[in-house]
Amino acid sequence: MKEKEYKPIIFSATALGLLAIAFCGFSRTIRRKIKERDGNKSVLSGATTRLQCAHINHDKNNPKINSVSNGRQLTYREHYLDHYNRHKKNGLSVQDNYSTVKGLYCMLNKRERQGLPHYDTLLETKKGKK
Ligand SMILES: [Zn+2]
Repeated sequence: MKEKEYKPIIFSATALGLLAIAFCGFSRTIRRKIKERDGNKSVLSGATTRLQCAHINHDKNNPKINSVSNGRQLTYREHYLDHYNRHKKNGLSVQDNYSTVKGLYCMLNKRERQGLPHYDTLLETKKGKK
């Protein structure tokens, strides 16, 4: 009976973990290795805050998708721009990339969103392409 009381807590922790994996994919160990390799800074700008481990190729069929060699450190903003600029070229389907771009855009605060291309233009591209 006592175990039952803990079930909701275990479930929510698992759900949160799965959510994190769905969004990120890299394990904690892999993320640590990427951070170490990249010197705990963005490989693009050298920024040291608001960093994320971002995939280079997002193709789910790639067996090395979540390996150290397929990741690099970017700021949230750079990660957003990477998904935006490599739309249709980063291994994600149009719809999956759109969802990711939308999620990243929401994660950025208002100040950080200043001057970023809006994700809706990606959807317009999708509609235009039939
Ligand atoms: Zn990404």
